[in-house]
Amino acid sequence: MSSAPVLRMERVRRAYREGKRDLVVLNGADITLARGEMVALVAPSGSGKSTLLHLAGLLEEPQAGEVHVDGLATRGMPDNRRTALRRHFIGFVYQFHHLLPEFSALENLMLPQMIAGTPKRLARERARELLDYLRIGERASHRPAELSGGEQQRVAIARAVANAPRLLLADEPTGNLDPDTSARVFTTLERLVRDTGLTALIATHNHHLARRMDRCVTLDHGRVVDFFP
Ligand code: ADP
Ligand code: MG
Repeated sequence: MSSAPVLRMERVRRAYREGKRDLVVLNGADITLARGEMVALVAPSGSGKSTLLHLAGLLEEPQAGEVHVDGLATRGMPDNRRTALRRHFIGFVYQFHHLLPEFSALENLMLPQMIAGTPKRLARERARELLDYLRIGERASHRPAELSGGEQQRVAIARAVANAPRLLLADEPTGNLDPDTSARVFTTLERLVRDTGLTALIATHNHHLARRMDRCVTLDHGRVVDFFP
């Protein structure tokens, strides 16, 4: 196991073309996540949280700077290697569950494992374990439309860790839930991260939930700075 930080972003720049001008979202952004750290990213809408998470998750490339994942510099890495690294090392949870509507909860957890090469029987076993762990085992055969918002997000969280990633990136994972459900789902997420020694970067607007993390950061003029909610 590498002793390098799970994630290290260095002087990252990301701008979007807006007509004739550049909208600079990240500009010299630095962030390092040590193994097992749980960090909240708390910043207003439009400040670049999703952009930062997409870069960290290797879904996009920065225009300058470097993203190191598990000590590996990823800039210019061939697509197939990026995809493999993302698939095995990184899990993503979004504000909306993005589960496949025509598949059951169990199947939604089996598919990413089978794509990663896990035999079907093992994938099913792990899917069951994860759903039980997240206390939705009895909903395993239901499709997303037959689940409540909180249950859908639990399944999405379970799916994100189905391939046992080391880094979990969550983009306002409870932003779409009512306050009580949000607190319960967040507690489950927290327990999962702590129990498995995962490293997590979680964008949230909720200061109360953010205070439970090891530390909080925000975005200020395209840079990552410490934040004390
Ligand atoms: P947050 O997640 O904090 O709400 P985002 O990272 O989604 O912020 O967006 C930051 C800024 O970049 C916003 O002004 C947004 O409109 C802009 N932006 C995000 N993605 C794109 C894109 N693909 N093309 C153009 N502008 C974008
Ligand atoms: Mg966002």
